[in-house]
Amino acid sequence: MSITSKIQEYQQKLPKHVTLVAVSKTKPVADLQEAYDAGQRVFGENKIQEMVEKWEQLPKDISWHMIGHVQRNKVKYMAEFVDLIHGVDSFKLLKEINKQAKKYERVIDCLLQIKIAEEDSKFGMSVADATSLLASKDLQQLENVRIVGLMGMATFTDDMNQVRQEFKRLKTTFDRLQPNYPNLEIISMGMSGDYELAIEEGSTMVRIGSSIFGERNYE
Ligand SMILES: *Cc1c(COP(=O)(O)O)cnc(C)c1O
Repeated sequence: MSITSKIQEYQQKLPKHVTLVAVSKTKPVADLQEAYDAGQRVFGENKIQEMVEKWEQLPKDISWHMIGHVQRNKVKYMAEFVDLIHGVDSFKLLKEINKQAKKYERVIDCLLQIKIAEEDSKFGMSVADATSLLASKDLQQLENVRIVGLMGMATFTDDMNQVRQEFKRLKTTFDRLQPNYPNLEIISMGMSGDYELAIEEGSTMVRIGSSIFGERNYE
C-alpha cells in the first residue's frame, strides 16, 4: 500500500484523542513529503542529525518529535525547532534541554521515558525516579522545559499479554501522577505492532513507522 493510503487509513481509524507520530527514521525526504501531502504533520525521528537535515528541507509547519535516546551534547542542534522530546530519562538531560531552549527563548515540551519493559535493554527511568524528579525543587528552576507526559516502550515479544501488562504499568503511573501535575497530558505508547493494544490501555500518542513507510533498511 502507498504511504498516502496508509496515512489516510490511520487518519480514519485512530480515535480523535490519539495523535499519530509518523516515524520516518532512515526514510528519504521524498517519503516524508508524500506523507505530508496526505495531511500528516507530526514526524518522529530517532537521530538528531538526521532530523535536522530533514527539518531544513521540508515545510516549516511540521511538528518534529525526537523519539530516540538523546545525547546531551547534541541537544543544541535541535533546540531551535524540536516540538516534543519523548526520551527524557535524567535531570541532567533536562538541564541541558533547558539551557539550549533558553537560547531560542523557547519552552520545549518533554516526556519522561519510563522503563516499563521486563527486558534490560531499553532506556528509561524507574517510576520512583520519575516521581521524585517531578517533585524536585530543581525542576521548578527550569523555566524553558515543560514535562507534558510519559513515554514507554514495551518488550519486543510476541507475548501480547506481557505487552499489555507493561502498557498498564505506564497508564497506572500516569494516573497516579497526573492529579498533582496537571501539565501531564500525553501517554506516548504503541508502535506498528502493538498500537491497538496501547490505545486500549490508554495511549494518547502512537509512534508508527514501518506500517506506514515500509520496513527499514539500516545498510
Ligand atoms: C522506530 C521506533 C518506533 C516505530 O517502530 P515501528 O515498529 O516501525 O512502528 C516507535 N518508537 C520508537 C522509540 C522507535 O525508535
